[in-house]
Amino acid sequence: MLTPNLKSVKLGGELSARIEMAARRLLKEETIKARENWTCTPYSTDYLLADLVMSRTEGSPCGHWAGDEAGRYINALSAIFPYAGNLYPQDLREGIKQKLEKVVAGVLSLQRPEGYFGAERQEGRIYRDHTSGHNWMLKGLTEYYNLAHDDNVLSAAKKLANYYVKTHPLWTTPEAMVDIESPDKAAYVYSNYTHCIDGLVNIYRASREEKYLELAKQVAKLVKPFEHAIHSHHFFSTLRGMVNLYLETADTSLLDRLEEEWEKIHAKGLLPTGGAPEHYIAGWTSDEGCSEADWMMINLYMWSITRKFRYIEMAEKTLLNHFFWNQSANGGFSCNYGGGDFRNGKMGNHTPGKRNEAYWCCSMHGTYGLSEIAKYVVTFDNRSVWINLFNDIKGALRMMDSEVRFNLRTLYPLKGQLHLEIESENPFDLKIRAPSWLQSLPEGIPLGQSLNLSAPTSVGARPRPDINLGGTSLNLTVNGASVQPDIKDGYIVIPKKGRRLKVELNFPMQVRTEAPAISSFSYNKSDFVPASVTGKNLIFYGPSILRPVDKLEEGEIVIIPDNPDFRIEKGLLRIKFFAVKSPEDAADKEKWQARIFEPISQETFSPMDITEYLFRVEGLKS
Ligand SMILES: [Zn+2]
Repeated sequence: MLTPNLKSVKLGGELSARIEMAARRLLKEETIKARENWTCTPYSTDYLLADLVMSRTEGSPCGHWAGDEAGRYINALSAIFPYAGNLYPQDLREGIKQKLEKVVAGVLSLQRPEGYFGAERQEGRIYRDHTSGHNWMLKGLTEYYNLAHDDNVLSAAKKLANYYVKTHPLWTTPEAMVDIESPDKAAYVYSNYTHCIDGLVNIYRASREEKYLELAKQVAKLVKPFEHAIHSHHFFSTLRGMVNLYLETADTSLLDRLEEEWEKIHAKGLLPTGGAPEHYIAGWTSDEGCSEADWMMINLYMWSITRKFRYIEMAEKTLLNHFFWNQSANGGFSCNYGGGDFRNGKMGNHTPGKRNEAYWCCSMHGTYGLSEIAKYVVTFDNRSVWINLFNDIKGALRMMDSEVRFNLRTLYPLKGQLHLEIESENPFDLKIRAPSWLQSLPEGIPLGQSLNLSAPTSVGARPRPDINLGGTSLNLTVNGASVQPDIKDGYIVIPKKGRRLKVELNFPMQVRTEAPAISSFSYNKSDFVPASVTGKNLIFYGPSILRPVDKLEEGEIVIIPDNPDFRIEKGLLRIKFFAVKSPEDAADKEKWQARIFEPISQETFSPMDITEYLFRVEGLKS
């Protein structure tokens, strides 16, 4: 499966808006007083290079992780550069280019003769934070080289990779392989080292020197399983590297391992929102935007490799919910570390109405994640074009010796509407994803009739009818004629025969609930509390998880009426539900109190202090 060349694509819609916000954030320079005598001015050059010059007054509040800041920054801006200028005003493209050149020049001037960066290191010793930061630098420099083809950058990346070749044996000893499990050292894990696979594969591709690929294979053999994962971002970054290694080697044992780890994460390591906790430690309560970005990317990659529907579905769930939720109003990305606990379905910000931006990592890595999503909206091979994610996009792709022009317009996830026009000489199958909540569609949908879709199966799911908003049936028209949808492997298949293909798809955006089991997320444990005990539900509108804008009081029960009022104002969705204090009150409409709900992803545009996403819900009463 291939992705279109980004230079031939013009992205629009929500994804475009979020990418532009993220890019503009990364070009800003704003001083933040982190603590006494410690200033952070992301993203000034001084800030980005602070961990290379061991500044005593500037840099990440998490300390100096040698190359971490500049590496992530170079990686994110290199990934986003192809969109800028294509989509946005020329000044943005120029701004990214100048920043990249300045930071890369600064980095190159600070490389030590041994190939490494930052504080002087003793020969024969390992440093977890040091190597973890370097992994970002290796990734960033190699991605920048792909963009700029600057030989000085390639030499610097090779010099750094040679340092890995030299020091690898130090990481193979039992002492080095220990994970440090304590709350203040929770990010000190063996995957500090193993997430170097990604950059090593990149440097092999750029240089074609076998020793780098060989080292990546050796490191992949040392990767610990999910049961050892403490810090999700490092573990998931390691898995992203393994995907990259698989793409280079086609070694199926790597793919088997990835699927095995995916199944464990899916079963034991996720929040009901599609995201992951920052740490798998008892008592830890927050998430991390970087982990949500990684998990989403892993799912996009696994979809393109295996074409298994579960991966693209998981990617969408994560990106439209937990990942977008973590984007701040200033365009950066964040953690929910300001109160609440994911175990009881409440997470939030320190400052009411203000997102806690994690500018030292998530803002940069989240931007990288956004740029990767955009590649997977449309994918293709020699016989098919897949529409995987619903976001405005137009452009062209090259299928064999034919140019295929496409234009997708949609209001999803606010409304279930897609308009797609395709033009090319060659025949192929167009495949449009039918989201999972439309998956219990009976074979052949009775056109014009109300769909009665049952709730998707999930652990402890309680059967209840769904409510359709914005129409009651799925309608597909192809070149103006109504057509019975033919769904295979989760996708509506439409054979393209003539030169032009025009498709209109309308489907109901249901309100539905899911009752997830809740994990305690202790290290190396997976004890779940079933929904039958918590009595808590997620409420969805189409793919989007909802939260109350009007806060609920403790113990209140949400009532979802038959036909909830909903409106879209300035691009924001608001749905009117009700709340009551006891199950008895649910029978008495006089006691219903109105409560407005919205998707958690709207946090970016209307930040709240606490987001609540698990509720007691009463059955439908009209
Ligand atoms: Zn982060």
